[in-house]
Amino acid sequence: MMLTIGRTVSGANTMRVSNNVVSGTHCKIFLDEKSNIMYIEDLGSTNGTYVNGVQVMRYALKVDDNILLGGDGGYKTTLREVLKYVEAQQAATHSLDDNAQNKQGVAAERTYVEEFAKLKDIYDSYQHDTLEIKDKLNSVMMWRIIPSSIVAVITAAIPFVIDAPEVKRFMTLGSALLTLIILLICFKVTAKMSHKYNAALLKRQEDFQLSYVCPKCRSDFGNRSWVALHHKGFCPACKAKFKVGS
Ligand SMILES: [Zn+2]
Repeated sequence: MMLTIGRTVSGANTMRVSNNVVSGTHCKIFLDEKSNIMYIEDLGSTNGTYVNGVQVMRYALKVDDNILLGGDGGYKTTLREVLKYVEAQQAATHSLDDNAQNKQGVAAERTYVEEFAKLKDIYDSYQHDTLEIKDKLNSVMMWRIIPSSIVAVITAAIPFVIDAPEVKRFMTLGSALLTLIILLICFKVTAKMSHKYNAALLKRQEDFQLSYVCPKCRSDFGNRSWVALHHKGFCPACKAKFKVGS
């Protein structure tokens, strides 16, 4: 899916906008099939493309992000509105076709069986990836305390093995000090790693939110499982059908 928005009247634009600060062909909105993420991309417009108040060249869109074409006084819209517009256009074209062919009755409602089926992989791989990252985080947390615990146990045991008063006196203080030092080193090293994994987790969640959406209305499915949605058979937001005969 790919559409363009701009001022040009000709068939060049999917969506025509009459606003002086909007360029002839201002931007495009397209679906990256592989990630199932919808992007907006500026097509070298004069006055720029903004999403949620920030100028962008290319941006992964959520359905209700505020899009502004041309800056101050420009054209405001959202992906939700653009999709509605395109749907209305397509419906109009279809009804023209139907009239031309003199068909009777209402045209069959479009289903999203194939598109919805693809979301299973997106859901499953997200579950898999987050579990994997959380596992790594857990082991990082273990390494935070394991080395210092080992040192504490060993150094505390030495006075029992070597039976000399000097060793006893030295080891009590030495054990505490050494354990503390190892603990501090472990914290420093693991803090960096846990930061890395937490960032990866966050990024994965963001991508999931952008891609695990209704194929029709692009509404976020949140953490609803794919199986549950499949069982339901249609989008909770727009009622688009995910199953034949549902
Ligand atoms: Zn929907």
